[in-house]
Amino acid sequence: MDKKHRHPGAKLVAPLDPSRRRALMRLGAAGIATAALAAGRVRDAEADTVRLTEDDAQAKALAYVHDATTVDGARYPQRSSADMVCSSCQLFKGEAGSAWGKCTLFPGKQVNADGWCIAYAARQG
Ligand code: SF4
Repeated sequence: MDKKHRHPGAKLVAPLDPSRRRALMRLGAAGIATAALAAGRVRDAEADTVRLTEDDAQAKALAYVHDATTVDGARYPQRSSADMVCSSCQLFKGEAGSAWGKCTLFPGKQVNADGWCIAYAARQG
């Protein structure tokens, strides 16, 4: 198209040379990878702070409660001692003294240190 017939608002766009196009594609891929990593970190951080609810299907299946003192001893005689709480369970991965912590049985969620479920296993040592 010659200059006389070009639309006045149209701009000439020079084609990218192949090496510049490759460099831009690499930058784009790196940006996407960085964004994906950042999103993953946000999800991990969220998972670390999401608290398990007693309404959760798996929590119900395992009779999990936030407060072990509310466990019906007649129904769950396996909770035979007041010491049997999440914080003394092998599967509890929370920091010592923290009110909530991760549990191997509930990935991505935190359980209450004073909670309990039927999978309780006393920590050894
Ligand atoms: S497995 Fe242990 S730490 Fe996890 S919810 Fe049950 S009693 Fe608590």
